[in-house]
Amino acid sequence: MTTIRLDVVPQDPEDHVWDVIVIGTGAGGSTAGFNLAHLGRSVLFVERGKLLHHDPTVERGTAFSYTGDPEAALNHGWWPRPFYCREEEDAVPVPTRPPIGSGAGGSTSQFNAVLERFRPQDFTPRRFFQDISDTSLPEAWPVSYEEMQPFYERAESLYRVRGTQDPLAPTGASLLEPPPPSNRESAVFDALKGVGLHPYRIHSALEQVPGCVGCPGRLCPRACRNDAARICLYPALEQYGAKILPNCRAIRLEETGRAVSRVICEWNARRIALRARIFILAANAFLTPVLLQRSANENFPDGLANSSGLVGRNLMLHASNHLFARLKRTAPALGFNMNYGLSLNDFYVHGGAKLGNFHAHPVATRNELIRFLTQHYGLSTPTKSGSSIRPIRSAYLPGALLSMMTPMARFLCRPWTVFAAILEDLPYAGNYVAAKADGDEDIVYTYRYPEELRRRAQMMCDSFKNALAPLFDVSPLQPVGALNGSHVCGTCRFGDDPQISVLDRDNRAHDLDNLYVLDASFFPSSGGINPSLTIVANSLRATDKIAQRL
Ligand SMILES: Cc1cc2nc3c(=O)[nH]c(=O)nc-3n(C[C@H](O)[C@H](O)[C@H](O)COP(=O)(O)OP(=O)(O)OC[C@H]3O[C@@H](n4cnc5c(N)ncnc54)[C@H](O)[C@@H]3O)c2cc1C
Repeated sequence: MTTIRLDVVPQDPEDHVWDVIVIGTGAGGSTAGFNLAHLGRSVLFVERGKLLHHDPTVERGTAFSYTGDPEAALNHGWWPRPFYCREEEDAVPVPTRPPIGSGAGGSTSQFNAVLERFRPQDFTPRRFFQDISDTSLPEAWPVSYEEMQPFYERAESLYRVRGTQDPLAPTGASLLEPPPPSNRESAVFDALKGVGLHPYRIHSALEQVPGCVGCPGRLCPRACRNDAARICLYPALEQYGAKILPNCRAIRLEETGRAVSRVICEWNARRIALRARIFILAANAFLTPVLLQRSANENFPDGLANSSGLVGRNLMLHASNHLFARLKRTAPALGFNMNYGLSLNDFYVHGGAKLGNFHAHPVATRNELIRFLTQHYGLSTPTKSGSSIRPIRSAYLPGALLSMMTPMARFLCRPWTVFAAILEDLPYAGNYVAAKADGDEDIVYTYRYPEELRRRAQMMCDSFKNALAPLFDVSPLQPVGALNGSHVCGTCRFGDDPQISVLDRDNRAHDLDNLYVLDASFFPSSGGINPSLTIVANSLRATDKIAQRL
């Protein structure tokens, strides 16, 4: 545990008018507050969870099984309340494990640290889906890849991303040297090239200190994972004068005229009202829209900033499947260790269809991989109708584990490499998040897994399997249909037309002069790759402009 100066927590937060209040300290919020504090603006962070790296009650490095105890979840850096979900509007919502982090760094405190750029074609998404009439996919993002590129460079350098160039990317990324590959990683890399694919060392923000195992889904116990807290939040607090209220929940925003005047919060069991010139919402794409909905008033009866009716709509999650790939000829001495990770974009656009990225994470031991898969498989086991929505009570039951036994048994006997597929899912107005009526904090999300997504998910797995067939045995860990709730996005999309978007191209609410949304809610499409680098790059882009207003 490192120490932090106590004066980063203000005793009298209601007495100030801050330049900026940032709600949420995840990828978007920490980066925003860091950039603004660095540029000399007064910043107050409001965070529901704990100052994870400094709180003695927090357990670092240990895996966490969700039991529904809010304090236990917060002590492991996870959101404290269950989420409620359903596949159809008229179905009864079931509680599910919340797939997001809470506390310093938000979900990045748990993340795999893969920081990859979207590809240029992600910025003009509609052209790949001309025949799908019911998606709300726009023709183009309001910002082009070329406009985003300098901010991608800054984001890569800020988060100290390591890796090698993607041979299929049109422009190079700004990357530090990755560690030398293990024998096993070299063998898999060479074999992927041998079947005509274009692998590269994954773009990742891990420092690779001795003993690093990546720690996916748990708090890093070493100075290793470059999450949003380590890279942005703590430097903002310790070097650039920003302040923070941890354990502080934003409940409602108040609006006067076309501006937000105060945010009402619950802090240390009391209500406080905080004032600022600019408010930045970065509470995660599940939670930001619900905060806006709960801030409805006479001027905005359907929720703040919601004249478009789109706050909470167009929920996207990514479809993710895992595949085991085993080299047909493997020398026993190769060992198990994948010490850095591999990625490939040969299937990003394939056979005329837009699919997405495949990558293999670093894994030090079999046990480490089994723990990760068990934890996350519980989250994403397909239901009968194919989506990943699973009630908490069945996620860890023997039945769910039993269903893993056959592939797991195969896995235990042979040195497999596990590849994760990140498949772009499309925005539909009927997939949405809303406040749960009988709780003041809980949310319900509705996600119907569309047939076009199932077809593309099957195509992606089949294409991968066929391409690798000359040198690998490939088998899927689960049938297609799994979703990835931790990649949530899209619920306050940005765009130029206020009738069909919530935010403008600078991420400011069309309806309000001083309200910005800088978490993953702004995505108008989900892309086929991990979202965090795009969240971070966009946060830098938007806050450069916000600073000019102050
Ligand atoms: C296990 C796991 C692995 C992942 N791996 C990767 C990866 O390798 N690469 C990648 O790109 N992405 C990965 N992700 C996803 C990535 O972490 C998220 O996409 C990203 O962090 C989202 O950023 P955000 O700013 O939208 O919100 P978050 O990072 O989720 O942060 C939101 C913060 O807001 C706080 N908050 C919410 N409501 C309130 C409120 N009312 N008041 C005060 N505070 C509030 C929350 O406590 C939280 O701290 C992973 C996620 C998980 C969980």
